Amino acid sequence: MTTPPQPQDRASLDQEQFLKILSREEAVRRFDDALFPRALPSEMRKLADALGSALAEDVTAPIDVPPFDRSNVDGFAVRSADLAAAGEAAPVHLVLNDEVIACGTAPKLQVASGTATPIATGGPVPRGADAVVMVEHTQPAGAQAIEVRRSASPGQFVSYAGSDIARGEALLRAGSVVGSREIGMLAACGIAEVRVSRKPRVAVISTGDELVQPGEMLSPAAIYDTNGAIVAAAINENGGAATFLGAIPDDEAKLEAAMRRALAGADMLVLSGGTSKGAGDLSHRIIGRLGKPGIIAHGVALKPGKPLCLAVCDGKPVVILPGFPTSAMFTFHDMIVPVLRRMAGLPPRADAMVSAKVPVRIASELGRTEFVMVSLVEGKGGLIAYPSGKGSGAITSFAQADGFLRIDALADQMPSGTDAEVTLFTPHVRVPDLVIIGSHCSGLDLVTAPLARAGLAVRSIAVGSLGGLAAARRGECDLAPIHLFDDKTETYNTPYLAEGLELVPGWRRMQGIVFRKGDKRFAGLGAKEAVAAALGDPACIMVNRNQGAGTRILIDRLLGGARPEGYWNQPRSHNAVAAAVAQHRADWGMTIAPVAHATGLGFIPLTEEHYDFALVTARKQRPAVQAFLDALASDDSRAALERAGFRPA
Ligand code: AMP
Ligand code: MG
Repeated sequence: MTTPPQPQDRASLDQEQFLKILSREEAVRRFDDALFPRALPSEMRKLADALGSALAEDVTAPIDVPPFDRSNVDGFAVRSADLAAAGEAAPVHLVLNDEVIACGTAPKLQVASGTATPIATGGPVPRGADAVVMVEHTQPAGAQAIEVRRSASPGQFVSYAGSDIARGEALLRAGSVVGSREIGMLAACGIAEVRVSRKPRVAVISTGDELVQPGEMLSPAAIYDTNGAIVAAAINENGGAATFLGAIPDDEAKLEAAMRRALAGADMLVLSGGTSKGAGDLSHRIIGRLGKPGIIAHGVALKPGKPLCLAVCDGKPVVILPGFPTSAMFTFHDMIVPVLRRMAGLPPRADAMVSAKVPVRIASELGRTEFVMVSLVEGKGGLIAYPSGKGSGAITSFAQADGFLRIDALADQMPSGTDAEVTLFTPHVRVPDLVIIGSHCSGLDLVTAPLARAGLAVRSIAVGSLGGLAAARRGECDLAPIHLFDDKTETYNTPYLAEGLELVPGWRRMQGIVFRKGDKRFAGLGAKEAVAAALGDPACIMVNRNQGAGTRILIDRLLGGARPEGYWNQPRSHNAVAAAVAQHRADWGMTIAPVAHATGLGFIPLTEEHYDFALVTARKQRPAVQAFLDALASDDSRAALERAGFRPA
């Protein structure tokens, strides 16, 4: 036993806890040990409100279904023995009884030998009858009789009482999840309410001075609160009842008050943000004061998700998810969903898995279980899993990926060509109709929009021009959008086509210098003069592009070996260049005209870049490819591209 820490030791203790990173398995084990077993509260719910909940007890059928012997067809209730000798050449004559048994009508008359009673589908079979003949198999014989030319076996077209559900039979077991089919069974038995495990009430709090709620104005340096919405939705998807309590600033007193209030009315508390060791690192300090035993794990060997904090305060789980939305979601699904589902009485989540080949090497950090989101496409020998390389801060990688693969903590990479197990986000693989892999351009969405409206699933994976060409050669995509300048021939794209690929002209994008409107240093200049002016002013900061980008080649040519301030700022997208200039982090950079205009920047045109498609000839006849080519050539797409500032080829 060590002595309890004194207040002045707090900071160093926190530091120590964070440095003591647990393996994923150890963290799960400790969290489970602190939470389970536990009593699961239950409650009665009306059928309609029970959807998605787990039954808290077995349900026994209180009645037979159907409750009586019931006709399955429209026809006549008969005695099968009367028809034993019936045949094409030997019609049997039956006199009709003086009643018609409709649905909901209880029969009054007995079916005596030589008679039949008209009966509707769902009508109760009358006394004396043991079979039903279909109306189509009879002929009228005067007003009050029929002729039957085929025999009927006993029980023909009759559903016997209790044949569907027998009274006293176990209808549903405790723990079954109530879905529409279960609701149907319960309703058929006349059950209006069932006892279900009460949904755990989960309070959700976002933390951070920078957070603004969707719908509100974004102030400078602020970002929209993504975790609040996504965590609350994921809780509801997994059997919990989430209450989102908003974003709380990084203020110890305010946060503590909010956490205490939240815990008072909830079974579980999920926070996000504030777990890294920044100035706003408060929540885990507060947890120590909220109840015993407090923090179970702070720092788990997961990637993304290392700063995850797991705690139990007076029996209630308190979780602090990492701030980055994708990190938050991975840790939530991997570590918190199992706990939530157990608290909701639900069975563990059964995720669908598929195997897929990884076409590129994926580097991984040694010592951390790493999750990598992937998009699936169909390759020649099966599924191919493309890692979406956007990093843990990216939310789109989550929404657009099909699933994820896991790289073991003991591996420092997953080699290219590995057969990996992919956990799907949805129960089935969504195989896209059209696969586009290569360089991304906002114009692409304008061309594929009509395809999506026509119900074709288009998958577009941004891996850059060269990556796209490689994918096309391997037959993993239909089209690879490229914009590659060839120095030798001074032409775009065509020199890069390998065998089996053909060029489909796309559109032209004007590249040029962006600056803030009103910046006198650039007013009225051409591109070369503008760069000269910028180089002549030591206070003028540029923003560059990443190595390998077509734009970078143009910039380096213009700079002619100069390395002005800002040269090493090398973002990977046209939009990032425009944002850097618009937000005064840089004064000039190079981007494409549509992005410059959308950002409201001044633009000096330099040269037109060709954005074309390398089409896999073998796939040309596929309907989705034809639909794409039609869309590309259509007046609508061309007009849309022009409106956005592109020039269709
Ligand atoms: P923190 O753990 O608070 O240092 O947050 C790490 C990163 O995640 C920072 O870039 C935060 O701005 C970001 N972040 C934290 N909370 C949220 C949230 N609710 N929505 C979106 N981003 C967030
Ligand atoms: Mg924060």
